[in-house]
Amino acid sequence: MPELPEVETVRRGLEPAMAGAVIAQADVNRPDLRWPFPDAMAARLTGCRVERLRRRSKYILADLSSGETLLIHLGMSGRMMVSGDPLGHFVHDHPAPEKHDHVVFHMENGARITFNDPRRFGAMDLMQTATAAEHKLLAALGPEPLANEFHEDHLIAAFKGKMTPVKSALLDQRIVAGLGNIYVCEALYRAKIRPTRKAGRISAARVAALVPIIRAVLAEAIEAGGSSLRDFRQADGELGYFQHRFDVYGREGRPCRTPDCPGMIRRIVQSGRSSFFCAQCQR
Ligand SMILES: [Zn+2]
Repeated sequence: MPELPEVETVRRGLEPAMAGAVIAQADVNRPDLRWPFPDAMAARLTGCRVERLRRRSKYILADLSSGETLLIHLGMSGRMMVSGDPLGHFVHDHPAPEKHDHVVFHMENGARITFNDPRRFGAMDLMQTATAAEHKLLAALGPEPLANEFHEDHLIAAFKGKMTPVKSALLDQRIVAGLGNIYVCEALYRAKIRPTRKAGRISAARVAALVPIIRAVLAEAIEAGGSSLRDFRQADGELGYFQHRFDVYGREGRPCRTPDCPGMIRRIVQSGRSSFFCAQCQR
């Protein structure tokens, strides 16, 4: 499941082909993904210039010259492919159509953007740009973790009195938007906080320390994604999945990487999702 750094990497990969470019034709090859597509989606996209390509949480938002914004959600298995980019960032020829190519944008500049999603948990929607923040998927979202609105006082206030585990609190999209299982595990490891700790019982100083750690964990992953984009010429034109080294995620039974810590990484299940942590150095 793509998390914020992967979605940001997809956005950055799409930008050279889409930002400022006109959608000459949109192929919408089925009526729905996770939800039905908006009415007349292909017609509403055709002829629009993409004024701006931005990201909110795990959603890519394309502001269009029509005054509408296209929301793209990759879901569990959604993939974006770029081919034929005229700027030379990507050298892939247009691939033969594949079975799960549900939406294809033919850009006036010659680029082609293909959304392929075998499991169809992804989504696309159209909304008025002026009221985009009120969209049902966006309205309840808390601050972006890399934005100024996410700061120490915000997190301390959000955790105050909360008796849910800190892991669940950080996954709560109303507290901070876009954090998922992997990067929460990594941030708690770096902060030396055990994922089962009750959020409201953690000292303000330790909660405050989480803010720069969360930012650093995400920034490093986005940087790794950026490196993957630079290597893109050798790749197959698919955006957003890249190799990244995790300190705890997926390392059950392996030695803790904290210097001088004799601990092993453990895995427990919280709210149906795996948490990885070191019981020696995370308290
Ligand atoms: Zn440890």
